[in-house]
Amino acid sequence: MLRRLTQYIKSFTLWDLLSGMRVTGKYFWKKKFTIQYPKEKTPTSPRFRGLHALRRYPNGEERCIACKLCEAVCPALAITIEAEPRADGSRRTTLYEIDLFKCIYCGFCEEACPVDSIVLTNMADYHIENRGENILTKEKLLAIGDKYEVEIAKDRQVEKDYR
Ligand code: SF4
Ligand code: SF4
Repeated sequence: MLRRLTQYIKSFTLWDLLSGMRVTGKYFWKKKFTIQYPKEKTPTSPRFRGLHALRRYPNGEERCIACKLCEAVCPALAITIEAEPRADGSRRTTLYEIDLFKCIYCGFCEEACPVDSIVLTNMADYHIENRGENILTKEKLLAIGDKYEVEIAKDRQVEKDYR
């Protein structure tokens, strides 16, 4: 009986609404945490695992030596590599693909790579519109690496300090 009476009084005095307004009022003048994405972005860790990239050396030569360690370690079997030796005897990939639908962004490929070739960038705002765009080809991966090399190198440098 008492419970029902309390509920009746609460609904009559708009108690729940006033409680909500009290919370709103409490935060109204406080510092806002909402950011205007995509113009504003929150900081990301140098170890953030976003879109993949393949890196080159400063002279433009691709770092990947086709050792296939990344392919072997990938728990999602998302990486496919084919390789053959070049005329100069160096071993390079003829095909390097990552299936974004399979990838679980664990970062194992990055950890396994002996030459810092395959990396996960801090790029998280990308999308897939058409069938087949989920496959990141070697050309796409190298292009991403070229585009974000400055940020990738900076993140790797900061990350080294934690190791
Ligand atoms: S991040 Fe993990 S799942 Fe994705 S390609 Fe690399 S090893 Fe495979
Ligand atoms: S990306 Fe790194 S781990 Fe993968 S095949 Fe190339 S050199 Fe080996």
